[in-house]
Amino acid sequence: MEKVTIKNITTQILDIPIKRPHQFSAVKVSSKSFVLLKIELSNGIVGIGEGTTPGAFWNGETVETMQTIIDRYVSPLLLGQDPVLTEALLQKINRQIRNNYFAKATVEMALFDALGKWYNTPVHQLLGTLHKDKIPVRWALASGTPEGDIEEAKEYVESGTYANFKTKSGKEAPDDDAKRSIRIAEGIKSHSTIGIDPNGSWDRLTTMKWMDAFFDAGIDFLEQPLQPQDVEGMARLAAMKKVPIMADESASSVEDAMRLAKENAADIFSLKIHKAGGMKNTIKVAGIAEAAGISCFGGTSLESSIGTAACVHAFASIPNLDYGSELFGPNWLLDDPVTEPLTIKDGYIHVPDKPGLGIELDEEKAAAYTRQ
Ligand SMILES: [Mg+2]
Repeated sequence: MEKVTIKNITTQILDIPIKRPHQFSAVKVSSKSFVLLKIELSNGIVGIGEGTTPGAFWNGETVETMQTIIDRYVSPLLLGQDPVLTEALLQKINRQIRNNYFAKATVEMALFDALGKWYNTPVHQLLGTLHKDKIPVRWALASGTPEGDIEEAKEYVESGTYANFKTKSGKEAPDDDAKRSIRIAEGIKSHSTIGIDPNGSWDRLTTMKWMDAFFDAGIDFLEQPLQPQDVEGMARLAAMKKVPIMADESASSVEDAMRLAKENAADIFSLKIHKAGGMKNTIKVAGIAEAAGISCFGGTSLESSIGTAACVHAFASIPNLDYGSELFGPNWLLDDPVTEPLTIKDGYIHVPDKPGLGIELDEEKAAAYTRQ
């Protein structure tokens, strides 16, 4: 039998509109950009990977940097190689290219999709085995006003789409943000809960001052209140034993997770396959959390159904995913470049069971959204 090798690698950038502008702490966005990576094997099988970032503000990577890294530096390391030696290929990429975790996660995703399609098995079986076949999903409220957010949450609960929520903070002054979050939490208290995510834009003293009020309002968790480097500050907040402290930007790599666990700087890790450099690293981060008694939450970089499928395969194998996920990316985009989008119903996203990532690229849509 002829040996199968990696034959061809292509990238394209897709710009897909979103349903309504989304306010992060630093920027407001009205469309989302993706790197679509195709890795073709010599047996004709094509694996797809999707790279996307919240924006350059998050960790410096963008779709343009990912495309350059993959085209110029990763492709020469993979072409002609044996795709079965995936771990060895990923290690080689790691040794030759520092950081660039989002780009590396995109490459791992396409390799696993190709292998799964070849072996006729879903990616979750390549990663280990399943712990659950569906994952709870929170929606991020970002209408712009507390009243709008309360109304939006009510509509989602009534329509049976989402049961719990997150709010973004950081655009306003921290005190105003805190008051707004409490107003929303109290407005929906009878039927659901929120977590707050200021994306590292608050300071220690302001955050400490509000912890009792957050606890009283029934807020589920406070995600990355302080800047990513302030591990000591996060540890002080966690020691207050009020609202659980979630680390997102602080807990990117496997090494970050180790440091936070050692310094008791988080009660929950937000996992993201892109920031960790892939699905396998994400599972390693969850393993560190498990050993340290830390819970996990399935974070998103707001992927389409392609990247979200990869998240679901990884997260569904994690036993300590105690806080569910925020894998609402497919519902947030105005369009999804796949033939059958993943569905979110009754607050859950289900694990795809078809080979590979279990989703199929819609070539016509991908072509229509490709940046010229
Ligand atoms: Mg976050």
